[in-house]
Amino acid sequence: MTDSFAEVAGVRVSTDHLIGGERVPSAERFDDLSPIDGRVLARVSAGGADEADAAVRAAAEAFAGWAELGPEGRLTHLLRLAELIDDNVERLAAVECEDMAMLLESLRARVIARGARNYRAYAELAAQHAERAWSSNGTDNRVVRMPAGPAVVITPWNAPFMLSTWKTAPALAAGCTVVLKPAEWSPLSCSLLADLTVEAGLPPGVFNLVQGSGEAAGAALVSHPGVRRISFTGSPETARAIGRAAAENLVPFTGELGGKGPLLVFADADLDGAASRAAQMYDDAGQVCLAGTRLLVDGEVVDEFRERFDAAVDAQVLGDPREAETTISPLIHPDHLDRVEGFVERARERGDRIVRGGRRAEIGGLFYEPTLIEPASNDSEIVQREVFGPVLTLQTFAGEAGGIELANSTAYGLSAVICTRSAARAERVGRAVRAGTTWVNAFLVRDLTAPFGGMGISGIGREGGDYALDFYSDLKTLQIKQGSTPLD
Ligand code: NAD
Repeated sequence: MTDSFAEVAGVRVSTDHLIGGERVPSAERFDDLSPIDGRVLARVSAGGADEADAAVRAAAEAFAGWAELGPEGRLTHLLRLAELIDDNVERLAAVECEDMAMLLESLRARVIARGARNYRAYAELAAQHAERAWSSNGTDNRVVRMPAGPAVVITPWNAPFMLSTWKTAPALAAGCTVVLKPAEWSPLSCSLLADLTVEAGLPPGVFNLVQGSGEAAGAALVSHPGVRRISFTGSPETARAIGRAAAENLVPFTGELGGKGPLLVFADADLDGAASRAAQMYDDAGQVCLAGTRLLVDGEVVDEFRERFDAAVDAQVLGDPREAETTISPLIHPDHLDRVEGFVERARERGDRIVRGGRRAEIGGLFYEPTLIEPASNDSEIVQREVFGPVLTLQTFAGEAGGIELANSTAYGLSAVICTRSAARAERVGRAVRAGTTWVNAFLVRDLTAPFGGMGISGIGREGGDYALDFYSDLKTLQIKQGSTPLD
């Protein structure tokens, strides 16, 4: 096997770019490691300015034809793509599990299928769209969506397949052509996605894939003058750099960024449900942007909550994500493990209390023990900054206002989870918490037509449903003077 292909879990994966319908290698390559055992899975083409330029040009050439198909024409292609994803769940799940170490069972059961759902939902939504039409001041008016042009989509290493489909689906459904750059730590399932776009018959250049680092491939893509939209998921730090590039070319961009969500447990909550939801925050080794990593518990019930939480975490099993009994997988990369460890060590040094975990797991590899920290104060770094690992904090509050105040006390605002049995409290607190998505007695349930994004440093703009389709369109107001077009 040459460097242009890798064999991963018995699946043949191209390690090259997809540009204008052709696989294109780069002279330079980077090693892609498996978090499971550190072995080199693939030597992936490392794109830079040349590959970025070629991909954006290919997307620009394909744009007029794709836009002209209209939502109905694109629907056929995107439904076929969704069908192919469903047909390939096993292959996609196996590769993503080796590449990113997400639990194989959850990839098989829901995460990959969500990719198919993304394409179906957006293609159908675009095709069903009724233009807003009304009359005023003697004119008949309509709001028309015009596809914006080539879009660059940049995604992070956690949930690479799901997030890449979540972002490319509305772009393609709206009539944009796409250049996707996945993260360099888990690039392989997106390469399989690129193959499926070809198999689904998407015209060459409609979907392009550029592999490589953020500094080289990513930066070249987001600063390319041919790009008309940028959609990014990742950290607030990277979003700032992308925002500067977008500003230079006056290109709209959305950023779905980091989180430090509160999980609020009120005294009237179902404590069993709240504790098992809290323990769920260690899933995927805590590498989930939406996780409620700050456990905020009413002081009246904190002891009962702790007992239940400890029991739920004791039942977790660290291990190989390919094994059915495993519930907590390894972290993505040695650098990330160092980063997570650094947060905990600094917390320890500044006097925060490590009440559970707080060290690398004895089984070795990239495992870190599920960790719970009681911070010395609310301004502790461990409370105020996203760790993106299996590290939760526990704080108590008194009264509803106290809970809301703590919940809203970081610069982030991506998600929140509220546990209460009171409908009135659910309404009050749900509205008062500063978070783009707020769940009451639930977590991770999503309706794809709802707006999705973050407040504060957790995001800029909204995707989801019509919000995303509008983002990938140029909205035009068309006004025709009433009675002025009598010829037909
Ligand atoms: P990151 O910001 O380091 O990288 C994300 C992507 O940006 C990668 O593909 C990277 O190569 C690219 N990139 C880096 N520098 C770039 C540059 N200058 N120009 C263009 N592209 C560049 O984030 P990460 O470490 O891969 O992911 C973790 C972060 O993502 C966390 O903060 C997490 O909360 C966030 N995230 C948010 C959501 C959400 O929906 N809000 C979902 C998943 C992850």
